[in-house]
Amino acid sequence: MTQKFSFALNGRDGKARTGIISTPRGEIRTPAFMPVGTAATVKAMLPENVRATGADILLGNTYHLMLRPTAERIDRLGGLHRFMNWDRPILTDSGGFQVMSLAALRKLTEKGVTFKSHIDGSRHEVTPERSMEIQKLLGSDIVMCFDECPALPASEEDVAKSMRLSMRWAARSRDAFGDRPGHALFGIQQGGVTQDLRAESAEALREIGFDGYAVGGLAVGEGQEAMFGVLDYAPDMLPEDKPRYLMGVGKPDDIVGAVARGIDMMDCVLPSRSGRTGQAFTRFGVVNIKNARHQDDPRPLDADCTCPACRNYSRAYLHHVYRSQEIIASMLLTWHNLHYYQELMQGMRDAIADGRFDAFQAAFHDRRKDGDIAPL
Ligand SMILES: [Zn+2]
Repeated sequence: MTQKFSFALNGRDGKARTGIISTPRGEIRTPAFMPVGTAATVKAMLPENVRATGADILLGNTYHLMLRPTAERIDRLGGLHRFMNWDRPILTDSGGFQVMSLAALRKLTEKGVTFKSHIDGSRHEVTPERSMEIQKLLGSDIVMCFDECPALPASEEDVAKSMRLSMRWAARSRDAFGDRPGHALFGIQQGGVTQDLRAESAEALREIGFDGYAVGGLAVGEGQEAMFGVLDYAPDMLPEDKPRYLMGVGKPDDIVGAVARGIDMMDCVLPSRSGRTGQAFTRFGVVNIKNARHQDDPRPLDADCTCPACRNYSRAYLHHVYRSQEIIASMLLTWHNLHYYQELMQGMRDAIADGRFDAFQAAFHDRRKDGDIAPL
């Protein structure tokens, strides 16, 4: 197995790309969807079951892990892979986004951010240097630059100011990361929905040089049309030969649209979180298992799905255990949703490699238009 981090493109269809990211901990097939393991677990799933859905890589949240159980403790216990029993690649975010969205009493300076923990009120400081240190202690394979995201809505002037601060932090992140063979550091493009600012950000990142590039600051409530508007040009500004990662996206149709625009990696809590709230993603769109129409329905969620929830259980059973608040409801629906997402990714990888991505997209949208199977 390779000891280096590398990316090879194996096929393209229009702007869509398919390839392989190689790391010492295994290969990541792209386009890739990364399930989110916020607190060192993908909720309701054993790691081997997450792998069985087809996931090559997980995402871990720096903010949550630094507060509890702390990066230092995870390091003493052998690193995040060993701690959570996942030996394949892990990408960690920088903590920046969640400091902004979850922590209290935030104070932002040129140096970094100080804040109070949302768990116990303790005071913390995260700087680009500290974020690199935490992600190293966790043993992350793909490390993200520490950046700042302005709260929306924001004026163009504020977005520009924030983006330029993030670019200075990107340079400090690069310096602090140093030379770590087999580990990758990704830069994050900012600039909101303004093309000139996106270009300026991309130029600054290329100047510094990274192993991969994320499109940041999207999926924060701007809506799909605005997001696709940015994705029509933003990925093209980033180096061709490096992976491009769209952070925090998304719903199945967001993912297909992002891949069509040249994105290689994505992550989102949606399939796991929705599984716990009774929502299933299927080829027909979203199915709400809590709906009374399922209570006498002996059919599976999706007759063509090979996940355990669909192979072994009826809609009536899933409805019953969800309504009874049984833990197995979260387990089965999360499994199904992650399985569906990974099958979608595999379908896209195959379609891109075969040069039939347009037909794949048309079929994807057609099936969803018809909606769920008719009630019995
Ligand atoms: Zn299923």
